[in-house]
Amino acid sequence: MNATVTGPTNVLIVGVGGQGVIMVSKILARLSQQQGLQVKQSEVHGMAKRGGSVFSHIRFGEEVWSPTIPMGEADVVLGLEWAEGLRWLRYLKPDSGTFISDTKRIVPPFSCRDRQHDAKHGYAHHTVADIVAQVPNTFAPDATGMAIELGNERVANTILLGVLSTVMDFPVKDWLKVLPEFVPAKTLETNLKAFKAGRAWTKKPHEPDLRQTTVQAQAGPLMRRQVSLEITEEWCKSCDICVKMCPERCLALDQRQIVKLVKPQACTGCRVCEWLCPDFAIAVHVEAVPAENISVVTATEVRV
Ligand code: SF4
Ligand code: SF4
Repeated sequence: MNATVTGPTNVLIVGVGGQGVIMVSKILARLSQQQGLQVKQSEVHGMAKRGGSVFSHIRFGEEVWSPTIPMGEADVVLGLEWAEGLRWLRYLKPDSGTFISDTKRIVPPFSCRDRQHDAKHGYAHHTVADIVAQVPNTFAPDATGMAIELGNERVANTILLGVLSTVMDFPVKDWLKVLPEFVPAKTLETNLKAFKAGRAWTKKPHEPDLRQTTVQAQAGPLMRRQVSLEITEEWCKSCDICVKMCPERCLALDQRQIVKLVKPQACTGCRVCEWLCPDFAIAVHVEAVPAENISVVTATEVRV
């Protein structure tokens, strides 16, 4: 993708708070600058809390005037979260645009229109295959899954950066030179591995990621969701937000003012508590298990 021949190259990077959208855009901006190109970057951080939309426009070329990408003009839309990526697809150049997105799905609490077990939510239901049918230049790795395998979920953005590097003209050695400026020194090694893993992923043949289908669809009627709340006591600052916001009123603070699951049978696994906790003290895990293995549908609590 050569910025100097056809005017500015436009890359739109989108995701939700905490995923590293800004870091990815800064790396790309710095790299473009180092190639002697003009760069304009503008970003919106959304609500400054976990889950808020974040997007960043990067434009680079011999001459760039406006800092924002007009609709239908993005050469690349890079989504760090599946629905966020899809939301911005209309910005992509219709014939030649490239769509890169993690298949990770972060379902916002407000898309849960029915709080019961196995309820359908209003989150985008498009699969990778649906999007490939619309945008042939689609790269949709399970970047978060790959990052977890590398030992650090937070390097998913660097995996996507590796994928991005394969569709840009900048030399690989220049990407590798810029990366250390923006990632914490202690995670540099993992980030370098992540970058290379992203590049390597593009060279493999891929099947659409079927993990995007819902647990219910995969499992069929004989499966049930088993919910488990992982509470990191040390991180709980007793703010009471999760207690007040849990739609089923299943949480309370114990005598030490640490959150506790008090009505496990009522917990639907909606993840509202996980999303609203400012201190990452709650993680909600949901897995499909055969219904015959569960006599009573109830959540469990794991304290760490
Ligand atoms: S405890 Fe958390 S996951 Fe369970 S219902 Fe309440 S907010 Fe939802
Ligand atoms: S778990 Fe999080 S939201 Fe709940 S009381 Fe503790 S710090 Fe607040």
